Amino acid sequence: MTKLAILEYPDPRLRKTAKPVETVDDAVRQLAADLLETMYAAKGVGLAATQVDVHRRLLVLDVSEERNQPRVFINPELLHAEGRGPGEEGCLSVPDIYDKVQRATHIRVRALGLDGLPFEIDADGLLGVCIQHEMDHLEGRLFVDYLSDLKRQLIRRRLEKERKNRPSGRGALDSAARGVAAPGAATPGATARGVSRPAL
Ligand code: ZN
Repeated sequence: MTKLAILEYPDPRLRKTAKPVETVDDAVRQLAADLLETMYAAKGVGLAATQVDVHRRLLVLDVSEERNQPRVFINPELLHAEGRGPGEEGCLSVPDIYDKVQRATHIRVRALGLDGLPFEIDADGLLGVCIQHEMDHLEGRLFVDYLSDLKRQLIRRRLEKERKNRPSGRGALDSAARGVAAPGAATPGATARGVSRPAL
């Protein structure tokens, strides 16, 4: 498996629309494995292929406390959405920024698994938020798009300033390292932080 570099806002490549995966083959399974490795290394809860500059409809996530329940969604489709509620979200492509976003509270999604077979899942809570957030990435949308223009400008400026101050250039490894150094990032703390402030 390979750890991949995560694109960061406002990188224009995050705005591309992903194309469907045509065949679930070994290359796709390898991509899923690499995405999971990258996500776990960055202490994220979810990651879409778009975030590593691969514009295919594939996303991975793990919302479990133990970080041992990886899930892979290939060509995900939203079948049903209902309710509306706020939840706090972060994003591995918008490091260390969290804000409230309104999402559907219950969704039903169909996707292909790594075996190439379709499955359907009902999701609410963090899982539901995470799937919606990652599906947005596949459309080139980011959670900051739901915030006010002013907030988005402030976030952009803050990230650009932080990137300039990073000792060794930019990239996912830096974000990951900062993620690890964050307060409460030891095993139980990281879990609590991950669930209450999910980086998706
Ligand atoms: Zn994200």
